[in-house]
Amino acid sequence: MELKDKSEPRIVSSSQEVKYRNFPMVPRVVFGRGSFDQLGEILMPKRKNSDSPFIFLVDDVFVGSELVKRIPAIFCDQIIFVSTDEEPKTNQVDALVLKIQGDFEELPSGIVGIGGGSVMDLAKAVAIMMNNEGSSCIYQGWDLVKKPSVYHVGIPTISGTGAEVSRTTVLLGPEKKLGINSDHTPFDQVILDPDLTKGVSKEQWFYTGMDCYIHCIESLNGTFLNAFSQSYGEKAFELCKEVFLNGLTPCESRDKLMMASWHGGMSIAYSQVGVAHAMSYGLSYLLGIKHGLGNCLVFQHLEEFYPEGVALFKIMRDKQEIELPVGLCANLSDDEFNTMISVSMGMTPLWENALGHHWKQIVTPAKLKSIYQKI
Ligand code: NAD
Ligand code: ZN
Repeated sequence: MELKDKSEPRIVSSSQEVKYRNFPMVPRVVFGRGSFDQLGEILMPKRKNSDSPFIFLVDDVFVGSELVKRIPAIFCDQIIFVSTDEEPKTNQVDALVLKIQGDFEELPSGIVGIGGGSVMDLAKAVAIMMNNEGSSCIYQGWDLVKKPSVYHVGIPTISGTGAEVSRTTVLLGPEKKLGINSDHTPFDQVILDPDLTKGVSKEQWFYTGMDCYIHCIESLNGTFLNAFSQSYGEKAFELCKEVFLNGLTPCESRDKLMMASWHGGMSIAYSQVGVAHAMSYGLSYLLGIKHGLGNCLVFQHLEEFYPEGVALFKIMRDKQEIELPVGLCANLSDDEFNTMISVSMGMTPLWENALGHHWKQIVTPAKLKSIYQKI
């Protein structure tokens, strides 16, 4: 694939000097089936004392499961189950921080998130807010976090979002759905144990897996593409094709989708997502549709922007025997369409990546409405 713009992502400072972004990465990662059992020994040297707990935020789908029995909680450590029926919110983060501050005199030794993108994002946000004042909603944006977060560990139990490797934690706030993008957001440690994804339903496996696939398509076809993003994006793209088109064993699929998610996340770190994400944010804001499904619902109608990517998506969807819901926007009012359109058109960097600086000549409210009406 040809690189369209080798200069992104760069910052041009006030002195017009060109600078390239200096991205933080996850400094430690374990990969392997069963590697979850190394968590206890990984946390031990990070324990400050017996009064400074580890807080385990765990998707409540695991209540009563074997996995919970394997969590190495000792001393006054706390396991908090969180519902993922809705995507994480700033007031949920604030309530968790208040609870932890109320329950313990000492700052926690660390926060461990065990779950999908929702729980990992919550864990990142809580870790940041243990050391930063005020509500988490004031940090939604870019580089607003002042003090380093407490030590935090991400353990995905479903693959695709790339939240395990990203520099953001996406939160729904009182005014906007936006990430806390900062150098203090990425995990200090990630454990990639593909066996943890065993219980995921066929539909959710596809929706979250397609989040990764769409990250690749949007990154590889964007104007911000550079060799860094391309190298990760192409690898993730190949892995997605293997998982969703080839007849791999379940074991191989779990291994490969976990690594696709990682590479997809790395690809967008140094580029950006595009049209499906911009429009999916609108769907999610108005109707509460979750990220993976929302991306699929939009992406299937984006032939104009990503013809090859959409054609392959449909082949994967059929091969995996997934039927996407229909008619979700059938009864919306003009005001509701306008809300989705304005949330979507507010995602300027995503549109710039997808279509270049003159994107508003291509993407009009009427065009977005006609796509939403198909969903
Ligand atoms: P999720 O975390 O919302 O989980 C989806 C469903 O799968 C839930 O019902 C959950 O209980 C279930 N589940 C998870 N693991 C399971 C397992 N092992 N067995 C059975 N069920 C399991 O889904 P997701 O798609 O991973 O994450 C979506 C969230 O991630 C959104 O909030 C989105 O905004 C966020 N996100 C963040 C980033 C980032 O870089 N920070 C990137 C993309 C998406
Ligand atoms: Zn995504």
